Amino acid sequence: MLSSGSSDEIAMRVSRLMLVTLRDTPADAVIPSHQLLIRGGYIRRVTNGIYAYMPLMWRVLRKIIAIVQEEMDNAGSLQTLLPQLHPAELWEKSGRWQSYTEGEGIMFHLKDRQGKALGLGPTHEEVVTTLAGELLNSYRQLPINIYQIQTKFRDEIRPRFGLMRSREFIMKDAYSFHANEEDLQSTYKRMEAAYKTIFDRCGLITVGVDADSGAIGGAASQEFMVTAEAGEDLILIANDGKYSANQEKAISIAPNKKVLNKENPSILETSNQNSIEDLCTSNNLDPTQIVKVLALIATIENNETQPLLLSLRADQDLNDIKLSNEISKILNAQVFEIKPITVEQLKIQGLSDWPFGSLGPDLDNEVLNGAKSWKKTFLRCVDHTAADLESFVCGANEIGYHRSHATWETVGGIQNRVDIRTAKHGDKCIHDPTQALEECRGIEVGHIFQLGRKYSKALEVGFTNEAGHQEPFWMGCYGIGVSRLAQAAVEQNHDELGICWPLTIAPFEAIVVIANQKDEIQRELGEKVYKNLLEAGIDALLDDRNERAGVKFKDADLIGIPFRIVVGREASLGKVELFKRQTRQLKLLSVEEAQKQLLSEIFANKG
Ligand code: ATP
Ligand code: MG
Repeated sequence: MLSSGSSDEIAMRVSRLMLVTLRDTPADAVIPSHQLLIRGGYIRRVTNGIYAYMPLMWRVLRKIIAIVQEEMDNAGSLQTLLPQLHPAELWEKSGRWQSYTEGEGIMFHLKDRQGKALGLGPTHEEVVTTLAGELLNSYRQLPINIYQIQTKFRDEIRPRFGLMRSREFIMKDAYSFHANEEDLQSTYKRMEAAYKTIFDRCGLITVGVDADSGAIGGAASQEFMVTAEAGEDLILIANDGKYSANQEKAISIAPNKKVLNKENPSILETSNQNSIEDLCTSNNLDPTQIVKVLALIATIENNETQPLLLSLRADQDLNDIKLSNEISKILNAQVFEIKPITVEQLKIQGLSDWPFGSLGPDLDNEVLNGAKSWKKTFLRCVDHTAADLESFVCGANEIGYHRSHATWETVGGIQNRVDIRTAKHGDKCIHDPTQALEECRGIEVGHIFQLGRKYSKALEVGFTNEAGHQEPFWMGCYGIGVSRLAQAAVEQNHDELGICWPLTIAPFEAIVVIANQKDEIQRELGEKVYKNLLEAGIDALLDDRNERAGVKFKDADLIGIPFRIVVGREASLGKVELFKRQTRQLKLLSVEEAQKQLLSEIFANKG
């Protein structure tokens, strides 16, 4: 609850609120929540991906922050505040400086007057892990869980959708340090429960999904998604609700394959058949009978470049994230980028043309001989869907020809059997093949992650265990996008007239609208109701502007305060209207009854 002192009382009048609402939708706002926050005067764009939070918005953010703080405190996390300027050395030591500042790296960075490089914090693992290393020496000091709520900076490649993906945004980030993995897992569970409570209390409907945990793998990671059409993430949920995952990570059973017709000749003449579709129609094949082979180049740590040859069943799509994780695991190295190999790249490497379109899994390493900077042997990976085929059609490594009835024995065997396919809507579920996956879109509002010992090893920090030996910390990290969450709440709670804030995070709980400010009876009654509400402990706002009633009602619909009392013509009879924004339910009641009902609804909903 915000206090109701006399200076606040002034600010709680719409006439003093610096409120400028817009009738028209701003051209750069595509999704409803972004449009409504701009139109409702909540946020103003300062430059690309950078917004000012106006007083109404700041009240929303303060309420969300208060909920987050309460639940984090309850879960045993300690609030701190870490610096936003990070010395480059820390990020160099963790091995992230280069990938965060070069190419598509998202860290804003600068040099100080001594010429020392600094980065503006996009996340705080380096800083917090270093501090833990300095302060925590013994297992007796563990576990520790600390959090902060502050502005993060990320020079996003595609800032968009207002606060959803901005370049400066408010995040709650927490980090935990443990003496062993079991202890990390128990804190992770506690954080998961705290997150559910936080999102519930904010009035959001969220789903927890299995998330990609990056190249280190193994460790658990979960994202909390607000389901909404405008979401940037694609999520897959089992019909029975027992499995849900981000598509980046989702696993499933691929659709059934068709058995290859024995009558086919063993060599197929396939010139001018330039797609899987052409190949199928010309040869009476089904895509599940074909192995497609992709040639890609991976840039890994130490500026090394590793050519990849991937085999997938031709009806399947490659999942870039899964691929990157698999390659990283196989090579035990960080993978920065993976791109398809093109004819131009072959030229730059000084190599002659490859039989693109007719590549087989056994394309000879000879084709890499003489490459200027690439490694000279392929890393070959076969997706399970392809590996499971006993007999298949694949390229013959000669333009215009494919082989039929190939087997893995005849094409050099399987070196690395991996899961690199994209799970899709309609696929059967691993946990129960009678269940299918359904697709929907989500906005990631939170992410919890068992980091394991990745950062403590890289930064060489640890503690002395019970046996007296030095060991790296076990770590977890837990993020909530506070400003993104505020906008996601609008995405989930609006109608054609404007925002319908959930009560707990609304900038005000109630608004008193004086229909005609020039009418003395209305004015006096409006002021009185407003004062009564403040005294009863309600966050109330008074629309005391000298505007037409229609304008005031439109603005009230737009800014979306959950309860409205309209003091209009019936004021002379001691009657007012009580209006609920979400349901648009309207009742004409005596002043006393309206106030009573409003208080009881608000207190009941606040719990
Ligand atoms: P995304 O996949 O959306 O880019 P992320 O995985 O990089 O997010 P984290 O590093 O896990 O994000 O950050 C924690 C939380 O911060 C995210 O769950 C999200 O809610 C929020 N967040 C991340 N990037 C942005 C951004 N550019 N603008 C607003 N909120 C963001
Ligand atoms: Mg994330």
